[in-house]
Amino acid sequence: MQAVVKPAPAPGAEVRQVPVPEIGARDVLIRVRAASICGTDLHIYSWDRWAQRRLRPPLVFGHEFCGHVESVGDEVANFKPGEFVSAEMHVACGHCYQCLTGQSHICQDVRIIGIDADGCFAEYVKIPASNVWKIDPAIPVEYAAILDPLGNAVHTVLAGEVAGMSVAITGAGPIGLFSIAVAKACGAGPVFVTEPHPYRQQLAVKMGADAVLDPGAVDVAAEVLRRTGGVGADVVLEMSGHPDALRQGFQMLRRGGRISLLGIPAKPLEIDLANDVIFKGAVVQGINGRRVFDTWYKMQALLKSGALKLDPLITDRMPLADFDKGIQLLLSGNASKILLYPDGQKL
Ligand code: NAD
Ligand code: ZN
Repeated sequence: MQAVVKPAPAPGAEVRQVPVPEIGARDVLIRVRAASICGTDLHIYSWDRWAQRRLRPPLVFGHEFCGHVESVGDEVANFKPGEFVSAEMHVACGHCYQCLTGQSHICQDVRIIGIDADGCFAEYVKIPASNVWKIDPAIPVEYAAILDPLGNAVHTVLAGEVAGMSVAITGAGPIGLFSIAVAKACGAGPVFVTEPHPYRQQLAVKMGADAVLDPGAVDVAAEVLRRTGGVGADVVLEMSGHPDALRQGFQMLRRGGRISLLGIPAKPLEIDLANDVIFKGAVVQGINGRRVFDTWYKMQALLKSGALKLDPLITDRMPLADFDKGIQLLLSGNASKILLYPDGQKL
């Protein structure tokens, strides 16, 4: 089959032929209809420090996709060939303290398909049946390929109350942009977004942000304070991982507000704990992945309600063989979600 492979520990990737995965008794083989490129794939492609430490090539990468069940292992009773599915790609160990106490999304021995095992930038992908998710027929087909990052947004936005609250989102990458739609659908307002890249600022407007602030042009924390009568945002969602955005996020948070941190800083950074957390009585949350499968049920309900209009975020569609082109487009910042089609077909 055709697949995007990281052949060796070095920058780049190759589109090449590899064997179709062999499934075990509890696995499902899925024929990939569409996959989507994530920021993590950029790290793998460019072979940064994180990738060098984490990955063991050769590896088929990719972890956002939808497809049809091709075949199932002998012990799989709940899926059959032809069904339209996606999957939670974080495979929890099932044995650690977190897994045994209902927190498998923070499993201490998690393996991620597309990072620790062969992923979905291929014609076929092998997934444990426990991680496969059936797509409700009411959900737009292309949205099924981007449930992984949408799930990050749903998990973060709904990690506390948002209805009737002001929300500030720092960073309008795909997850920040999804979060605008989720926050609005759940009754938040006003929703402020900070983002330096003009293309992504425009997407934030399209997604329904009430104000999009450019950190290169204005003091974004002062601006959010001004627009909230000097109080600050009830909820701040940090979705950039950029040190400036983190600092600004804490500054624009109101006393007693919630700040949920999803963006991953490249290295340790300084925070003014006394003023920005302690005296503020701030609630600070780390957000990892999606709750399995709570987040998936919430996401399904939101999608079925029709409240999430995500089409502006699917900015490009191309054959899997054009993977390099997709990566370059994403690196330019002039794209959001890029869908890849392994057989060159569109859904
Ligand atoms: P992305 O890199 O596409 O988006 C980040 C955005 O932040 C970009 O649009 C960038 O222009 C913007 N930005 C840069 N500097 C900024 C500043 N000073 N102020 C405001 N915005 C700024 O990433 P994404 O795919 O949307 O993911 C968002 C973040 O979440 C990344 O850091 C990613 O690594 C992380 N992430 C975390 C999890 C998790 O489970 N915690 C899961 C997926 C992604
Ligand atoms: Zn575990």
